[in-house]
Amino acid sequence: MRVPFLDLRIADQTQRSEILAAVDAVLCHGRLVLGPEVETFEAEMKRLTGRRFAVGVNSGTDALFLAIRALGIGPGDEVITTSLSWIATTNAIALTGAQPVFADIREDLNLDPCSVERLLTPRTKAILPVHYTGKPCDLKALTDLATSRGVALVEDAAQAFGASYQGRPIGSFGEIACFSMNPMKVLAACGEAGVIVTDRADLYERLVSLRYNGTVNRERCIEPSLNARLDTIQAAILLKRLTWFEDIIAKRRKIAAWYTEGLEGVVKTPEEGADECRVYYTYTIQADRRDELQQYLADVGIETKIQHPYLMPLQPAYHRNACGEWGRASELQPQILCLPVHEKLSRDAVEYVSEAIRRFYRGDQA
Ligand SMILES: *Cc1c(COP(=O)(O)O)cnc(C)c1O
Repeated sequence: MRVPFLDLRIADQTQRSEILAAVDAVLCHGRLVLGPEVETFEAEMKRLTGRRFAVGVNSGTDALFLAIRALGIGPGDEVITTSLSWIATTNAIALTGAQPVFADIREDLNLDPCSVERLLTPRTKAILPVHYTGKPCDLKALTDLATSRGVALVEDAAQAFGASYQGRPIGSFGEIACFSMNPMKVLAACGEAGVIVTDRADLYERLVSLRYNGTVNRERCIEPSLNARLDTIQAAILLKRLTWFEDIIAKRRKIAAWYTEGLEGVVKTPEEGADECRVYYTYTIQADRRDELQQYLADVGIETKIQHPYLMPLQPAYHRNACGEWGRASELQPQILCLPVHEKLSRDAVEYVSEAIRRFYRGDQA
């Protein structure tokens, strides 16, 4: 059997026809950027995150960059983030001119609030947690910390659309929250897309301007910025995908439960707290002899990924001037391995993967 890590084809004939019809509607009205479907998509995002405002943008990276800019953060300021994430999180901070400060993580691979607390300085302007793997961060501790120190909380919710914490949707906690809808994400466009949500009218207005070259009324430029507008076709596709979204999450959660059952006591499997709902952007195990295991699985047709192979402070772009702490992250990173968890996997495929992992460790004992 071959088990791919991802399968981005839309094999289901009905789904493909529905997506093509949504694209066709856009081609007929011709408002190709920020068209009516973008507005409807933004309205849906507001509803689903319980926010007052949503701004559709062209990627999760731009969402983060514009969010930090909108908060007025720049040179001389510090933003505390996690050590383990996709590098987009750090790039977004660094490109505003602010200094990224890397905090350590906990066993669950998410930002450790105690580490954040140690790294707060008078220059800290924001805390930027990532809901890594689609698991909510310790938002209680992080919100308390941000509030008591008067710094903004910006959620990098790129991996966690649809997750919830204490009954509230992820994306409803920070001053601003950012999502990515790139093709790998749980809610995926057929190309690049992202969205920013907030409750603050002032931030919303600035974001709308920053999204289009810092303009107001599309012509007058009041501050330098880039073009980060969302394509109407992607919004139309996302609206379609949203109607299937509950099924997608349910399937991923079911696959995760199958894995957890099959791998109990063999490797460390992701845990879910009673007050949270994860979406399993990745199903990330922590395993001894990780690299050997990955090769063993590859040899039997199972594609896995190490997300992410470099801690952000150790990336060539940052390691010379990186500040913060990442001792625990350095211990955990060599153990992490992401198993295929996309919603097209069959029960048989999941069992095949679990059995292969069990076999690997049985061989170890033999
Ligand atoms: C995917 C991702 C991003 C960037 O989103 P893009 O849409 O790919 O630009 C940012 N942060 C995290 C944690 C991500 O996983």
